[in-house]
Amino acid sequence: MLDLSVINAMFPPDLPEPDDWERRFRPRDLPDGAEVTRFAPSPTGHLHIGGLYTAAVARALAHQSGGTYVLRVEDTDRARRVAGAAEEFSRLLGAFGLAPDEGGVAGDGEWGPYLQSERRDVYLGHVRELLRKDRAYPCFCDKERLARSAGEQRAGRSPLGYYGRWAPCRTLAPEEAARRLAAGEPYVVRLRCPYEFPGRIRFADRIRGSVTLQDNGNDIVLLKSSQEELPLPTYHFAHVVDDHLMRVTLVVRGEEWLSSTPVHLQLHTALGFAPPAYAHLAPLMKAEGPSRRKLSKRKDPEASVEYYLSAGYPPAAVQHYLRGLANIRLMDVPTAEALAAPVRLDGMRPSGPLLDLPKLHSLSREFIASLTPGELYAQLLDWAEEYDPSAGYPPAAVQHYLRGLANIRLMDVPTAEALAAPVRLDGMRP
Ligand code: GLU
Repeated sequence: MLDLSVINAMFPPDLPEPDDWERRFRPRDLPDGAEVTRFAPSPTGHLHIGGLYTAAVARALAHQSGGTYVLRVEDTDRARRVAGAAEEFSRLLGAFGLAPDEGGVAGDGEWGPYLQSERRDVYLGHVRELLRKDRAYPCFCDKERLARSAGEQRAGRSPLGYYGRWAPCRTLAPEEAARRLAAGEPYVVRLRCPYEFPGRIRFADRIRGSVTLQDNGNDIVLLKSSQEELPLPTYHFAHVVDDHLMRVTLVVRGEEWLSSTPVHLQLHTALGFAPPAYAHLAPLMKAEGPSRRKLSKRKDPEASVEYYLSAGYPPAAVQHYLRGLANIRLMDVPTAEALAAPVRLDGMRPSGPLLDLPKLHSLSREFIASLTPGELYAQLLDWAEEYDPSAGYPPAAVQHYLRGLANIRLMDVPTAEALAAPVRLDGMRP
């Protein structure tokens, strides 16, 4: 194992210890059974309707149990980061009545910051701890070396990854590792996976019941290259630390993360954390002829959340629809009732619900018909101001405003009078 002084020298000397973070992010004072959920998008592009669906379910489960729903932005992947994406998530969630109780761009809440790029010290402290416990080690393999291993693994039909004979740094003599660190060689920090030949692991999923998968046998990267000015953790590592320290009790996320759950559980164990419960949502599907396929970001305009806003679907009807996708029994009750009813994980199917726009149309129609004229006008105006300004402003008012710009004395008289009065060139300012 690396000498303690060597490990300590890899980090800033004043870096807080995990115990300091445990005290700072204290356990939440919530009633028994209250769930803390989070929506944790990576800011790599537009919000997908599947993301909004996840957020709707996560929020419902937190609120109906007396808990809290957090928005955490997972922006540790610098190469894929899109400027302004975090602001965009907050705006879109807010537009659909799914604003978080904590987190997001405003970052309000005691368990923040909620942008991972601002939590670097939290992760570094935990990486150092794993090194001290010999559950992690520095790896000096460069890209070429890793590419060569991957080539051999493909050729031999072995699983891809850093393990066994393809993991030379795992067994590097501590003196050798210390020498290379002292010489300033670039490195990443890897998890020391507990076994080289992993078996199968069984865990509970609140939607799927008992799930059995191949366990992780790969020494995954925890901390990215030391050559970066500010080395950041990988997604896998950062989100485990955050779920623990944000005191998340239930991880609601898309099914595409199911196969990563074994490595997440392994990380929780290595760090000495009690893992949260998991619920993996099946992806939204689209009918294509007689078959179904996953909704595609590229092919389907309705995959983007922006589509629902610009098309003018009332946000409440969209929220109702998302709850109906989760629990079919909520689809055919009035919107107010559907929004007040609990979403039940045991009412969800492991196969993906079908996104069916005619159903959303009919929910929207019924919702609009239930509004008073005043409510309808207010909602329409809100929408038109944002998405169709030309239709939102009465032409006469626009004409009045233009005359007012020309002759300021016309700005504050009634519209009929302003339109009847002469425009005077000598009333215009140079
Ligand atoms: N940042 C991940 C994503 O983009 C979140 C996965 C998770 O919820 O654990 O989907």
